[in-house]
Amino acid sequence: MTRPVYRFAPSPNGLLHLGHAFSALLNLRRARAAGATMLLRIEDIDTARCTPENERMMLEDLEWLGFEWDAAPRRQSEHFDDYRAAIDELASEDLVYPSTMSRADIRRTVERAVDDGGSWPCDPDGAPLYPGDERELDYHARRAILAGASDYALRLDNAATRARLETPLNWFEEGAGPNGETGWVDTDLAQWGDVVLARKDTPASYHLAVVIDDAIEGISHVVRGRDLFHSTSVHRALQQLFGLPAPVYFHHDLILDETGRKLSKSVGSTALRHLRVAGATPADIRRMVALEE
Ligand code: GLU
Repeated sequence: MTRPVYRFAPSPNGLLHLGHAFSALLNLRRARAAGATMLLRIEDIDTARCTPENERMMLEDLEWLGFEWDAAPRRQSEHFDDYRAAIDELASEDLVYPSTMSRADIRRTVERAVDDGGSWPCDPDGAPLYPGDERELDYHARRAILAGASDYALRLDNAATRARLETPLNWFEEGAGPNGETGWVDTDLAQWGDVVLARKDTPASYHLAVVIDDAIEGISHVVRGRDLFHSTSVHRALQQLFGLPAPVYFHHDLILDETGRKLSKSVGSTALRHLRVAGATPADIRRMVALEE
């Protein structure tokens, strides 16, 4: 039997907080119990928000917590060629198309539809499904967008993808989804609409990069927050399109603030470095996230 591989995959776009500490420590606990390798991945495809300074602070906080990794971290910004090759593969199979509506265009279109008495479906993250119709454009019109000066996003053609997938497509959930889903869970790709997989200036969105990296690094077990539970439908679809293996997933509880909201990187009071300056020790942090040894 090969050794399982786990990973913690934070984005250095702000300070690590108690929610990250919980996710990282839970990953480590499960990895050690399974005799697994534990990796760190730096998810910094958003190079505007993921700065070297943020990364430095993130690594320092993790070191302070006591983390040692079984290999050097993989930094996504150094692997854009891998994502470009993947998106090219989907483009050659006509499963992605360039779309030109900006976020503001999308909002206006959706508002108009709602004002006219209709409703508009949203994806599990609360974003309206893409209302544009460029998926209908022919080869030459697509080439013109790709070669033009305007921005574009490459979107997955959801209907064409679903027609291609072998179903049922599912994953094994060792944790639980928002409604207690556990064990074998069926994917629901339709709920995501034509999700963005890349942009003109970045060859990958989170969904594309995470799938490629999990495969390249041989990740067998993904332990991450429940807010990413529904994204697993997109990830499983991409894994099947690329012929990649499916990890086992464990979606864990989110640590919430006093008002019941998910912790955000801009909320200072739970930032690990602020707690450290205030005198907390790594053992205190483990107690605060209820993961003391
Ligand atoms: N980079 C993501 C985050 O910081 C986690 C991605 C994952 O674990 O799949 O929320």
